[in-house]
Amino acid sequence: MHLPRVRQGVGATGGAERWAGMATAPQLRPTLWRPHRLLVTRASMGFAHGRAIAERAAALGVEVVLLPGDRLALDLPDDPRRAYAQAKSTLAVVVAPPSKRKLQPIAPSADWRVDLAEGCPAHCGYCYLAGSLKGPPITRVYANLDEILDGLPAYLGQGSVTSRNRDRAQEGTTFEASCYTDPLALEPITSALSATIAWFGRWDAPVQLRFTTKFAGVDPLLGLDHQRRTRMRASINPSAFARFEGGTDRVAARLAALARMAAAGYPVGLTIAPIIAAEGWRDAYGSLIADAAAALSTVPGIDLTIELITHRFTAGSKAVLDNWYPGSSLDMGSTNRTTKRTKFGSEKQVYDAATMRMLRDFFAERIAALLPQAGVLYWT
Ligand code: SF4
Repeated sequence: MHLPRVRQGVGATGGAERWAGMATAPQLRPTLWRPHRLLVTRASMGFAHGRAIAERAAALGVEVVLLPGDRLALDLPDDPRRAYAQAKSTLAVVVAPPSKRKLQPIAPSADWRVDLAEGCPAHCGYCYLAGSLKGPPITRVYANLDEILDGLPAYLGQGSVTSRNRDRAQEGTTFEASCYTDPLALEPITSALSATIAWFGRWDAPVQLRFTTKFAGVDPLLGLDHQRRTRMRASINPSAFARFEGGTDRVAARLAALARMAAAGYPVGLTIAPIIAAEGWRDAYGSLIADAAAALSTVPGIDLTIELITHRFTAGSKAVLDNWYPGSSLDMGSTNRTTKRTKFGSEKQVYDAATMRMLRDFFAERIAALLPQAGVLYWT
C-alpha cells in the first residue's frame, strides 16, 4: 500500500502527488494526477464504472459535481489562459454514445482505435490532440466501459494494419487505447486501464491491447492477469526537450516503469515521438537510445518493439498550440519542412525528404547497434 508523502503545490492545472513506498529513486516516483474538479453527468451515474470513478475522486478529496443532466456546463473564464488551465484541471465522466463506440482504423499503430477517454491532463507543446479534439481541453472519461469492451469482439480478425498484414499478423487484432488520451495518466482516478487489461487477459483470442504513455504510475498494472495481451510503450524524447512535455513524468521514470512492466511479463515498446530535428538532435537522441538500452538491459527475454514518429503539425494544430503555449521555442516554422496531403484531403507539415533521410538513417544505425533485440514496427 502506498502512502501519500509530499503533496505538491496544487496549481491552476490540477493537483499531483508523488507517492512513497516504491522501490524507485525519489526522482523516479510517478506523478499521480488528480483533477481539481470532477463533473459527472446524470447518465454516467447509471454505470458502475461511472459511480466508482465518482467515489474514488471523492475519497481523494476532489470536488465532485453531479450534474442534473448530460450536458457539460463548463462555465470557463473569459481569459484564455485561465480558461485553458481550468479546462485542463477538469475531468468529466460522460457516456460514450454508439457513434463513439464504432471503432476506426488507426494506422500505422493498430487495426482499431478504442477510446477509454478523450483528452489528457498533461501540457505537451506539440500535442496532436490540439488538432484532433475540438473545444476546451477538458478530459472526458467514459462511464460505459463495459459497453465499450463488449463491442470489441465484433472486430476480431478485422482490420488491415496488423490482422491482415503479413509482417505484423503475429500481433493479432490490435486495439490502440492512446489515440485521444494518455490512459495511464488517468489511471489513479479511473482504473479504466487496469479493467481493460484484465478484460483482454480474459479474452482468449489472438488480440492485443496497446497503449503508449508519458507517465510512469504502473503499480496497479503489475499484478494483473494480462496473459501478454497488452503491450505498453513508453513515449520518450530526450530530456533536452522535457520543456515541451509539461506535467508528464521524467523520461528516466518512464523507462524504469517500462522495465518493471517487462519484468512482469508484458510485451513492451518504445514510442520515440515526436522526433524533433532541433539543433543537437544527434547527441540528444543518441543518449536517449543508450539510456533506453541501459534501462531495459536487465530484463531477460524482453519482447520489445519500437515506433518512430517524426514531428508534424497542421495549420489548425499550430494555431491551437500557439494559443495554448505562447512563446514556446518548439519550431513550427517552414525551414526543413514540406507539405504532405493526407488521404482525407487535409495538409500537414512534415520534415522534408533530406531531413527525413538523415533522421531515419541515424535511428536505424543506433537502434541496430544499441537495441538489436527490438523490432521496429514503423517509421513515419
Ligand atoms: S502526454 Fe500525450 S496526450 Fe498528453 S498532452 Fe502530452 S502528447 Fe498530448
